[in-house]
This record gives sequence, C-alpha cells and structure tokens, in this order.
Amino acid sequence: MALYRSAAFVLHTYKLAETDQIVVLFTQEFGKLRAVARRSHSPRRHVASYYQPLMLLNAIVYGRPGQALYRMHSVDILQALRPLHEDFGLLRCGLYMTELIDVATHEREPAPELFILFHQTLEQLAQTSDAMLLLRRFELQLLTAIGYTPQLLYCAQCTRDLEARAHTFSPRLGGLLCTTCASTVRQTLTVSPEALTYLRRTLAGDTTVEPPTPLAATVQQELERLLHAHLTFCLGRELKSYAFLHL
Ligand SMILES: [Zn+2]
Repeated sequence: MALYRSAAFVLHTYKLAETDQIVVLFTQEFGKLRAVARRSHSPRRHVASYYQPLMLLNAIVYGRPGQALYRMHSVDILQALRPLHEDFGLLRCGLYMTELIDVATHEREPAPELFILFHQTLEQLAQTSDAMLLLRRFELQLLTAIGYTPQLLYCAQCTRDLEARAHTFSPRLGGLLCTTCASTVRQTLTVSPEALTYLRRTLAGDTTVEPPTPLAATVQQELERLLHAHLTFCLGRELKSYAFLHL
C-alpha cells in the first residue's frame, strides 16, 4: 500500500452501494483517478461536502500502485473559490470547464500543465467580467494541450498555404480550408475576419483576458459555435453541461 498526496479537483462523484461513493479526482501529480469514500454514516459527516467540484483540495488517497480504484484517506480544502459557488452563472461556467477536463483526460496519466491551466482559469473566472470570452480561451488552450490546436496556418485538407481570404472552417478536419477545398468539404462553418484574428492572437499566446476592443456579440457567438463544433468532434461526444450555459 502507498499513500498518494496531491492538489486536486473533484470532477464528479457517483454512488457506490449504500454507504460509499466513488470520487473522480483530477490531481496535479497523478492525473485523473478514482477513489472510494464514505458517503454517509461517517463519523466526520461534514467531509462529504468536500467532495464537490470547483474547490482546490489537498487529497490523500491510498492503494496499491497502478490499481484502478484507490481509497480516500483524507481531504482538506486549499482554496474554496467561493465566488464560483455563489453565482449561478459562474457556477455553470465552472461546471462546463470541469466536464471538459473530465472528458479530455485519461485515468492515471499525469497532465500537470492541464491542471495548472484549469486552476488558473477557475481563479480568473472568479474575477472576470467576461466569463464567455474566458471560456473560449480555455477551450482553445485545452484543445492545444490535448493536441487538437485548430489549424489556421495552412489548409486542413490539402496542407497548401491559405489565401488571405480563406474563411471556411471544418470542425471534422480541425482547421481552415483553402478556397478550392472549401467547395468540396461538407459541414463547414464560415469564420469572420474578427473571429479569425481573435483565434490567431489567442493561439499565438496573447492570453490577456479582455481583447483591446470588446468583441461584438455576433463574433462571440460565432467563436462559440466554431469551438463547440470542433471540441465535440475531437472529444467524440456532446457535453452535458453545455446546454446549461445559456439558461
Ligand atoms: Zn486545400
């Protein structure tokens, strides 16, 4: 048996028999892992409330190295990220980010960069005046971290250089198409110059939260549609929490 200690976020929990639950953690040190924890009848009943998303925890689990299921030893709150729990709009954004991390990560594969990105973006979410734009940046950075950077430099189908007026994006091919390919590929989206500028600047590492001039609502919607289509294709499924973002 070994003890594993790490900063962690709860991704989700589910019931296991009458008294236990399985807590799915995203840990900084070990990646995603599952641990059994008491659900009720615990002498420390209040502990159960720690097992919820959007709080930075110090989690200690134990078990045999490499096994699929660990046991929860103890958990403490390192950072409660209270604003995310007090504002329903921010909570929905945070839960969407949590589901993205859950779907994009694999068990027991450490992803410390993704952990830092997730933690930092949650901290920014608690302070931002433009949560939607922050979500777009998070989606782009997540896509890059898992190897699905949208291809905006050359044609995603024929790899030829793009014309300056190229404006057709294929979620399936993961990038822009040259004007020749644009006429042959189905299920594409049209990208405005403003949205393209935003995407290119963000991918180039300009990670200021607010752009110098606010993006028009239509451009924001366009970015959301494009990134959502690309993400669901890359991740292979729809995200349950996405439908709640605009309630
Ligand atoms: Zn092409």
